[in-house]
Amino acid sequence: MGIEKLLIANRGEIALRIHRACHEMGIKTVAVHSTADADAMHVRLADEAVCIGPPAARDSYLNIANIISAAEISGADAIHPGYGFLSENAQFAEIVEAHGLIFVGPKPEHIRIMGDKVEAKRTAGALGLPLVPGSDGAITDLAEAKKLAHEVGYPVLIKAASGGGGRGMKVVQSEDQLETSIQQAGSEAKAAFGDDTVYMEKYLGNPRHIEFQVFGDGEGNAIHLGERDCSLQRRHQKVLEEAPSPVISAADRDRMGGIVAKAMADMGYRGAGTIEFLWENGEFYFIEMNTRLQVEHPVTEMITGVDLVREQIRVAEGRPLSVAQEDLRFTGHAIECRINAEDPQTFAPSPGTVTSYHVPGGMHVRVDSGLYQGYRVPPYYDSMIGKLIVYGRTREGCIMRLKRALEEYVIEGMKTTIPLHQKLLRDPEFQNGDYTIKWLEEWLAKDN
Ligand code: ADP
Repeated sequence: MGIEKLLIANRGEIALRIHRACHEMGIKTVAVHSTADADAMHVRLADEAVCIGPPAARDSYLNIANIISAAEISGADAIHPGYGFLSENAQFAEIVEAHGLIFVGPKPEHIRIMGDKVEAKRTAGALGLPLVPGSDGAITDLAEAKKLAHEVGYPVLIKAASGGGGRGMKVVQSEDQLETSIQQAGSEAKAAFGDDTVYMEKYLGNPRHIEFQVFGDGEGNAIHLGERDCSLQRRHQKVLEEAPSPVISAADRDRMGGIVAKAMADMGYRGAGTIEFLWENGEFYFIEMNTRLQVEHPVTEMITGVDLVREQIRVAEGRPLSVAQEDLRFTGHAIECRINAEDPQTFAPSPGTVTSYHVPGGMHVRVDSGLYQGYRVPPYYDSMIGKLIVYGRTREGCIMRLKRALEEYVIEGMKTTIPLHQKLLRDPEFQNGDYTIKWLEEWLAKDN
């Protein structure tokens, strides 16, 4: 069924990103917003806008009843959840569909499976993805946990089944810490997610974070769009992402990409997804799957030429994938810098009003941001205010262009992480692509 009017159940740059894809496809858009976002760019650009509640996300962007009402009032026929907020809420997807609306996302049952990490791991294993060695399901018995940790070898990691954002994880160095760590991880998870189920994995000492973009049509066809390297993280938050990874060979990309695409095809997966792996000593280890569009999706778009939001909408309309695996080419290199309204040294949030604004331009430079001169960044939400994505034929060329673009970028009225990215790009180890998931925090701890 063709979508004529789509409600965007999100805010900020991703709301704008979805609006742009819709208008390029001739689809009208409905923005929803909290009272704090009445002046937001996505609200200004959308064909219609509906206020769905006060600033707190639980009362607005997470308020399912108000979002569904907004869709009904405006006559929207589809809802795109973006990332974060309700994007991985299986119940929301079900409610959307129960109201006769198209959910631009995966089938609810797949969201549910992948949202439970124990289930996700079991499913991934059954689909032939390589796993981090560890418990086969939840830990229920201490004696068994001890035996397993001994087999796997210390250090091990205790993780929460419903974890997210790096919470509810405990590294265990030796057997005498095992019992307390299981208890602590369980109670932390209970407090944060209302579920104390935990499981065990071997703790990998110094891996990279490599994730594959996948796409399914829901009918048993699926493709992969290569990998992204998201190893540069601070407190499990990605800071800068690139595609392709500086360490993955074309042969490994084809091999692992083939495995993930087949897994998605076998599952009957619909829409965009990301399969996250840790990568160490040339081996991939599945950690989780995100059943949504990712913040860092533009680097994949840059090197493949595929508009992932357009593709999501096409698949939601029941149309086939627009590109076949054999026609996909990975060309050149792309890097994304996440620009946050934060102090670049202390990372303290720094919301404020944009007093002066100039975005970089020129060949192969993309800025995804809802900022404009005079815009007041509200203090209630995530501190990311924009993304700078740059393409180059080579990684070196991409880095040179990114440096140039960052020099041009002017955001006054608040502190931003632009200086952090500038410093990072000058670092020889970064320039060599020589980093793991621990590297950035160690680099920040050094007197930079
Ligand atoms: P979350 O959903 O909380 O983000 P993930 O399973 O994606 O949880 O893990 C978050 C991060 O924790 C990973 O990017 C990695 O840095 C680290 N991590 C997860 N599992 C392991 C492991 N087995 N060994 C070492 N580090 C891990």
